[in-house]
Amino acid sequence: MENRLWMALRRDTAIQFLKGVGPKLGDLFSRKGLKTIQDLLEFYPRSYEDRRAARQISSLRAGDVVSLKAQVVTVHSVPMGRSSRKMVDVVVQDPTGRIHCKFFRVPYRGYFERFTPFKEVRVVGKVLEYRGRLEFHHPDLRDIEPDEEVQDDLVPLYTEIEGLASSKIHKLVKLAFAQLKPADWGDEVFPEWLRKTYDVIPRWDALKRIHHPESDKAREYLDMKSAAHRRLIFEEFFWLELYLAARRTGFKKEQGPLIDPPGEGAKRLRASLPFQLTAAQERAFEDIRRDLASGSPMHRLVQGDVGSGKTLVCFLAAVTAAESGYQSTLMAPTEILAEQHFKNARKFLEPLGLRLALLTGSTRAAERKALLAELAAGNIDLLIGTHALIEDEVKFARLGLVIVDEQHRFGVEQRGELKNKGVSPHFLVMTATPIPRTLAMTVYGDLDVSVIDELPPGRSPIQTRVIFDSKKAQALDFMMQQLAKGRQAYIVYPLVEESEKIDLKDAVSEFEALKARFPAVRFDLLHGKMKPAEKDAVMERFRAGETQVLVSTTVIEVGVDVPNANIMLIEHAERFGLSQLHQLRGRVGRGEFKSFCIMILGYAVSEEARQRTEFMERTTDGFKIAEFDLELRGPGEFLGTRQSGLAGFKMANLVRDLAILQEAREAAFEVLHHDPQLKHRDHQALRNELIHTHGPTAVP
Ligand code: ADP
Ligand code: MG
Repeated sequence: MENRLWMALRRDTAIQFLKGVGPKLGDLFSRKGLKTIQDLLEFYPRSYEDRRAARQISSLRAGDVVSLKAQVVTVHSVPMGRSSRKMVDVVVQDPTGRIHCKFFRVPYRGYFERFTPFKEVRVVGKVLEYRGRLEFHHPDLRDIEPDEEVQDDLVPLYTEIEGLASSKIHKLVKLAFAQLKPADWGDEVFPEWLRKTYDVIPRWDALKRIHHPESDKAREYLDMKSAAHRRLIFEEFFWLELYLAARRTGFKKEQGPLIDPPGEGAKRLRASLPFQLTAAQERAFEDIRRDLASGSPMHRLVQGDVGSGKTLVCFLAAVTAAESGYQSTLMAPTEILAEQHFKNARKFLEPLGLRLALLTGSTRAAERKALLAELAAGNIDLLIGTHALIEDEVKFARLGLVIVDEQHRFGVEQRGELKNKGVSPHFLVMTATPIPRTLAMTVYGDLDVSVIDELPPGRSPIQTRVIFDSKKAQALDFMMQQLAKGRQAYIVYPLVEESEKIDLKDAVSEFEALKARFPAVRFDLLHGKMKPAEKDAVMERFRAGETQVLVSTTVIEVGVDVPNANIMLIEHAERFGLSQLHQLRGRVGRGEFKSFCIMILGYAVSEEARQRTEFMERTTDGFKIAEFDLELRGPGEFLGTRQSGLAGFKMANLVRDLAILQEAREAAFEVLHHDPQLKHRDHQALRNELIHTHGPTAVP
C-alpha cells in the first residue's frame, strides 16, 4: 500500500510497519523470529567488510581477512572421508590466480544454486593455509551488488535471511534508525555510576554504531572489540550474572535444615575405610560440613577430576545428615551409575546403620510402592536413584540433603527440580567435568565451589597412545599381555548398531569377531539398547572379574569404577569430543596398576580430529582439556544444548570475551551488594528487567 498512514515507530512496533517493508517481507523476518523493530536492531552484524582491504588472489597471505572480487570457476560437492557428509568446494578466480572456498556445512538449501560458472562474486573471509595451500573456509560469498561502489569503507555483514541479501538488511536497519528517536527507544537501563565505572557507552549509541561502524576504527570492529561491541556484550553477560547473583543472595537469606551433629558417623566411616582420605577430600568435606551447620541451605559444587574420589565425599555428607535425623538423596545420570553408588553405599554406609534404598525407572511397581511408603514414613536415610527420583510421588518425611552426581549437562533452572522436594534442603552438585572458568562463572555462578585437586596416592598417570587402524593388531596384542597379568580391559565403540550410511564397525559385530578370534578370552558386551537388568548383570560380572574384556558403547562414559581394569581401547576416537574422551579414559587408572589408553583412528580423519586426539596424548589434566574443548567446540556443544542462559547470547562469546564476563559479574555483584533488593531509584530498570525475564521471585 502506497498511502500507508505515517505512524511513530517504537521498539515494539512490528517490522512490517517499517516504511518499505510490508507484510510479505515482514513475514520473512518473522519466520526467523524477528518480529519487532527491536528484534531487527538486535540482529547484529555477524562481521564487517573492510572494502579497503580489497585484494587480488596472488597477493593473499595466510591469516589476512580480505575482500575480493572474483569469478566462479566450478562448484563441486565432495564426499568427506567415509562418512555420509559432504563438503562443497567453490573455486573462484581473478586475473591473478585461483583459490578454493570450502563449506563444511551448507548455510541453507539453495545457497549454492546461484553461484554458477562465470558469475561475478565477492568473497570476504579469512585466508587459511591447509596442506601448503591457501584457501577460505566458510567465507562470505555473495553476488556483486549494483550499488556496491558508492558505499562506505566499512560495511556490516548480516547473515542472509532466506536469500535476503546482507545489503538489503542493512538498508532496512538504516531506515529504522532514520525513523526512530532515542526517546522512542525507551530508557537506558544502566545507571550512570555503573556506565562510568565499567566504561560502557549508552545502549542507544552502541546499537547505532554497531550498524553504522566508524571506518577509522575498522580493526576494532573486525575484532569485535569496539566500544559498541563492549557495551552490548557486557549487557548480555550482565543480565545472566545479575540473575545468578540474585539467586545467591536469595539462598543466603533462606532458612535451611540445621545439621550440626558431633560427627560420630563421619568418624566411623573414615575408620572403616581401607585407605586414608586425601587432604583435598577432607577439605571438600569440611566446606560441606560448615555449610550444613550454617543455618542456611548449602548450594555447593564439588569439582574433582575423574577418579578423585567424589563418592566418598558425598557419603560423608549423607552420614552427617543421617546423624542429625535428616534424609538424603543422591541422583545419578544413568542406571549403571546409580546401581554402582548403591553397591558402594551398602558396603560403606549400611554397616554404620544407615537405611538405604534404590529407585530407578526399572524398579518394579510393588517394590516401588513399598519403598515410597517407607520413604514418606522416614524409614529410609539415603535414597539413591536416577531421574525417577524427580517424580511427584516421591515424597520424603524429612529431606535435608540433595546430591546430584555428574550432572554437568543441566541448566541453572533445571538443577532445582529435585531440590523442591524438601523445605530448602542442602544442595550438593558433584561433577567430574572440569569446567573452564568462564563456564563456571555462568552455569554455576550461583554456587559455592570446592575443588578436589588431588588424586588418591599411588596412581600413576594413564599412558595414552593414538594409533591408526592399521596398527590395531598390535594394540590387541598389548591388551592380551595385560590380561595375562590378571588385568581387565574395555573396548569402546561410538555406535550401537551397524548403519548402512555410516561405515563404522560397531560394538555388536566386533564383539562377535573378537570372540571368534580369541576363544580363550572371556568377552562381554554392553550397550545402551539392553534392558537395565541385563546391563546390571553385565556390569556385575565385569566388576567381579568374571569378564576380562568389556566391549561397550559410551554407556560407560561416566562414573563406572572397576579398579582392576587398566587398559582401554577406543575405536574411532575421532568421533568423540575431547571431554568425552577424557571421561572415557577416566574409567582406567583407578587402581594401583599402571594404566593405558589406546585411541584408534579410522582412515579418513580430519586435521582437527588428529589435533584433538594428539592433545589427549599429551595431557591428562582435565582442566586443560576442558579449556581446549571449549575453544574448539564453543559452549553450546560443550555443555549440550539444554544449557539455559547460554544459548541466548546474540553477540557475547564465552571464549573471546572472558575479560568482559568477569567485569559484568563484578558489576552485578556490586549492584546487589549495595542494594540487595534493587530498591534504589537508579536500579528500577534493572529490577524490572530481572522480573520481566525470570519472574517476580528473581528479586531476593
Ligand atoms: P570419582 O571422583 O570419579 O567419582 P570415585 O568416587 O568413583 O571417583 O573414586 C574412584 C576410586 O578411588 C574408587 O574405587 C574409590 O574407592 C577410590 N578412592 C576414593 N578415595 C580414595 C582415597 N583417599 N585413597 C584411595 N582410594 C580412594
Ligand atoms: Mg563419580
